[in-house]
Amino acid sequence: MQVYKFGGASVKDAAGIINLAEIIRKNKDKQLLIVVSAMGKTTNALEKLTRAYVEQNEEMHEMFDGIKQYHHDIMAKLFAPNHPVFDEVNNTFVEIEWAIEEEPHDDFDFIYDQIVSIGELVSTRIVNAYLNHCGIKSHWLDARGCIHTDNTYREGMVDWDNTCKSIQQQLPKLLEKGVVITPGFVGGTSENFTTTLGREGSDYTASIFAACLKAESVTIWKDVPGVLNADPKLFADTKKYDELSYAEAIEMTYYGASVIHPKTIKPLQNANIPLLVKPFMHPDEAGTIIRESDFITFDTPVIIVKPNQVLLSISTKDYSFISENHLSDIFRAFAQCHIKVNTMQNSARSFSVCFDYDAERFEKLLKMFEQDFRIKYNNGLTLITVRHYKQELLKGLTAGKVVLLEQLSRNTVQMVVK
Ligand code: ASP
Ligand code: MG
Repeated sequence: MQVYKFGGASVKDAAGIINLAEIIRKNKDKQLLIVVSAMGKTTNALEKLTRAYVEQNEEMHEMFDGIKQYHHDIMAKLFAPNHPVFDEVNNTFVEIEWAIEEEPHDDFDFIYDQIVSIGELVSTRIVNAYLNHCGIKSHWLDARGCIHTDNTYREGMVDWDNTCKSIQQQLPKLLEKGVVITPGFVGGTSENFTTTLGREGSDYTASIFAACLKAESVTIWKDVPGVLNADPKLFADTKKYDELSYAEAIEMTYYGASVIHPKTIKPLQNANIPLLVKPFMHPDEAGTIIRESDFITFDTPVIIVKPNQVLLSISTKDYSFISENHLSDIFRAFAQCHIKVNTMQNSARSFSVCFDYDAERFEKLLKMFEQDFRIKYNNGLTLITVRHYKQELLKGLTAGKVVLLEQLSRNTVQMVVK
């Protein structure tokens, strides 16, 4: 069997869903599990809605109406007005309605997962209905009953043993009957609460299912020709890699190449399952294949630009040295706030850390440091990472910018710039 994953951009409108169905039709003699993300920018919109609800901002109702309308407009182009999918989708949205009727008293991350997960639950119901409507036999599977996580909301940690058991129990018999479609990004706790796996986590969903089912391959369908050496929205001349090793792909995603979620590769590498990244507009093109390989040489440097960074510098209140004990306190605080460090640097009297800005997590972190440390920070920065770099390239990348922190190794350079 094979796993296909379609991201938000591939299902952002009715034409996208029709295109998806065309790709499935051409491949429907294969056993297929299809993982789908929320449509277009729905996850961002649901995040905003969650914040508005937690802050009890009146605009939340308007935001919610906008999200419903967007989905309704897409459905109206695909189905006759009396099609049961309209009720199915409305019933799913009702969960948000119930949630936002009450005053918020739960933890932010918990509320976030209950609301934001609806994006995937809705998109997959629409795609499933459309495939059946086109005569492609398709079954909807609730990933929350397959991917079991702990209760780390917004970053559910997968319980692999139970997850594999559930997947191996449920999938094979469903795949016999037709294609199976399931929401990406979501999981469930032992108490049946919904969790999410971290932003862009649908790739990881595809990889979890593939690893548990020993799939032949995973294909991620994207709006780019494959894995490129840089983001085509930021750079004019990009080059596609025909092939990458798992190791290089892990490095790229670790540094923030957003083409694949960072947790995706390892389970596939362990199970030796190739990962294909292909353009959904040109499904016959080869794209990029990621697999075990020692022979790949790098003529083209990889450039990864991560916006929305904070550079925080931490010193002791009396400006004494930052000791190992301080460092251990600092790292514990980062772990407790679920903030991943992108790069860091130590000097005698201060410790600088660069990470992604997330309002709620950052506030929590600052509170934890308030008592014992002196804090300075800049936000709105950009982290540029270049692998297999050449000196001339670096000059061009930093021209006109202030470099606040730089770190070089033989293969990789990281620069935090303003
Ligand atoms: N819809 C989620 C997000 O945008 C998950 C995903 O797209 O993979 O983060
Ligand atoms: Mg997405």
